[in-house]
Amino acid sequence: MTDLTGKTALVTGASRGIGRSIAERLAADGALVAVHYGTNEAAANDTVATIQKSGGNAFAVRAELGVDDDVDTLFAGLEEGLDGRPLDILVNNAAIIDYDGTIDKITRAAYDRQFAINVRAPLFITQRALPLMRDGGRIINVSSGVTWFATPEIAYGMTKGALNVFSRSLAQSLGARGITVNTVSPGITETDMNGWLNDPQAAQHVAGMIALGRHGQPADVGDAVAFFASEDARWITGQTLEVNGGLLLG
Ligand code: NDP
Repeated sequence: MTDLTGKTALVTGASRGIGRSIAERLAADGALVAVHYGTNEAAANDTVATIQKSGGNAFAVRAELGVDDDVDTLFAGLEEGLDGRPLDILVNNAAIIDYDGTIDKITRAAYDRQFAINVRAPLFITQRALPLMRDGGRIINVSSGVTWFATPEIAYGMTKGALNVFSRSLAQSLGARGITVNTVSPGITETDMNGWLNDPQAAQHVAGMIALGRHGQPADVGDAVAFFASEDARWITGQTLEVNGGLLLG
């Protein structure tokens, strides 16, 4: 457990899956957490309630990402919840995947939507967050192993490649303020995004590709993000951590 007492955090896409685990872990470590979501208000409220029941502090912020006023909407809710406090930790986690997006089928609209949510939103959320952030803050971007192994969903992988480039450049730009920027790259993790893991044959097949012999759980990723958010990670910036149980090691 790391100590984030007195810190504040924004986690995008924190109503479900990996983002929810990140929010729960940062709150357990003592941070006040803004639980961002797009449409699933019940899930966001459930995340906040779970955090509060465990003695943590959190509030929900609704903003659909990938649309014109996404950043304005998000920061209106965020700043209201922060009530004058600065922001210490930003986790750009929300993303979508188009499972029909193979090279023969992908449409311009699906390509644009994935880039708007997975790349444009993190960049402009970060731009807007920086004036609110204290020096010495933390930015953690959630990418994917699909940046180094090939998958059919071509534009999704391209968005995550762009995010990796964004992280590295941002780390260089923000070093003077002592703000670290790192990337966590999950492998195959049991969330709503991976509904195909409900097929026992597919599930067994992919578990066989993982050295530790199981699929990832959201908390496996949340704990890695908490490390980058902590004081222990003060001398690490511009790096990518593969959090995947040893996926495709050989
Ligand atoms: P989920 O689909 O389970 O959850 C997605 C979250 O993002 C939800 O909170 C959702 O909000 C929010 N979200 C999605 N689209 C929008 C939008 N347009 N506007 C606002 N919020 C939005 O995803 P995961 O937890 O599986 O994935 C989290 C991150 O991890 C993503 O960046 C993903 O690419 C990455 N990743 C996941 C892997 C996996 O195996 N699961 C593997 C590698 C990377 P709402 O509840 O309101 O819909």
